[in-house]
Amino acid sequence: MPTKRKKSTLTGRTERNRAKIQKQNKRQDLDYQQKEFERDNSTRRARRSNESNLTAESSRDLSSLRARVSDPVYSHNRLERDNSTRRARRSDGNYQQNENERDNSSRRVRRSDVNYQQNEAERDNISLRARRNKPIAWNTAVETYEKNIRDGPCHRCCSCDKLIFTNQISMKTTNDKMIEKGYTEQYLRTLILEELYDSEEYTFCSTCNDYIKANKIPRFNINNSNLKFPVIPDEFKELDLQPLEERCVAARIPFMKLKALGCDRQLGITSGVVNVPIDVRRTIESIPARPLDSGVIELTLKRKTIYRSYYMKERVRPGAIWKAAQLLCNTELYKHEGITLNHAYESQDMNLQDPEPSSSNTVPNVETGNMSNSELQQTPTAVVPQNTEQENYIPEETLLDSNEGLNFAPGEGQIPIPMFLDQYCEELSFPTIFFGTARKKQPHS
Ligand SMILES: [Zn+2]
Repeated sequence: MPTKRKKSTLTGRTERNRAKIQKQNKRQDLDYQQKEFERDNSTRRARRSNESNLTAESSRDLSSLRARVSDPVYSHNRLERDNSTRRARRSDGNYQQNENERDNSSRRVRRSDVNYQQNEAERDNISLRARRNKPIAWNTAVETYEKNIRDGPCHRCCSCDKLIFTNQISMKTTNDKMIEKGYTEQYLRTLILEELYDSEEYTFCSTCNDYIKANKIPRFNINNSNLKFPVIPDEFKELDLQPLEERCVAARIPFMKLKALGCDRQLGITSGVVNVPIDVRRTIESIPARPLDSGVIELTLKRKTIYRSYYMKERVRPGAIWKAAQLLCNTELYKHEGITLNHAYESQDMNLQDPEPSSSNTVPNVETGNMSNSELQQTPTAVVPQNTEQENYIPEETLLDSNEGLNFAPGEGQIPIPMFLDQYCEELSFPTIFFGTARKKQPHS
């Protein structure tokens, strides 16, 4: 019996092999192949017409797929294969364009349904909240921050001229692309900074981008607001006025209380700003008139000359101060304020030896550390405060300073002007920024 079974097994195998070979031969014929394919399809269709067969087939397929995907090697290979196929297909520009159009149109169709739109917004909100609430490791946060600030704020928003970091760029586009999107040239001329118009690429910050998407002019757009700083003439720029030199020619000193705020210790203003008007002519005359164009003197700016503490102490160039004052006195705002200079004063070497007599209320408040007592008696003196118990009032050191140099308190004795009554206080306070030019009024005011 065993021999017989063995024989029949062998015969069966041979028959199967023969049938296989015959089938392979038949498949060489294209007609046969087509017929076989159609037959298979119709059989499959017939099977699938039955609901239970269809369910069984999909559950079988699903479970086999799940089994395959659970294998990490298989899923890795599958992902790589898919990615490379997609990459190869996308290298073709036409395919990419077709894909984009297809995606866009299907998205548009889906979004026409209000329910879908609502669901999408909710889903987006949930995922955004989840991302924001996701705890971030300290190292990752530091790395991200350092990566973001590595290049510095080196990009300009083409609308508001704000300097932004790379990660703050909300939109990068070109002139052609914006025209393609339907923005008019007139709109672009208003939107884009004059010097950046027609540049290779436009960058926008997120605030401006929101307005652009709504086809509006951004609120902080430079061309459409009075935020643009005036052009400073080269002659004034070349002087490169230092902070204290600027104070000498400024017609206002805004006293502010600055305080380091928050964890990053940036400075913020606390309480009100005291806007003190300054007599520029008197201030200039309190500084030695041009000992030499290249000469420097040490100058100390104080609130009152009697105070030991000072606000600023620098070496200043009287020549540069005089030239800056001359240029500023020709500007519209300085003329409007009636600020003039005594040109006869320019020829004097040192004004301190021949001070202009003045009342005690409007003194330029100069004191020197290298003058004799007789000279000091002739020099205009500080107004002595009525409250002598004030904290930093030192009666015994009223005039003489331990450092040789010049102390001055241009704001002493002046009556502050409320900022809302002083229309040009900002322009007069910072001549290196505004150069005696009044700002335009807000278009909507
Ligand atoms: Zn902007």
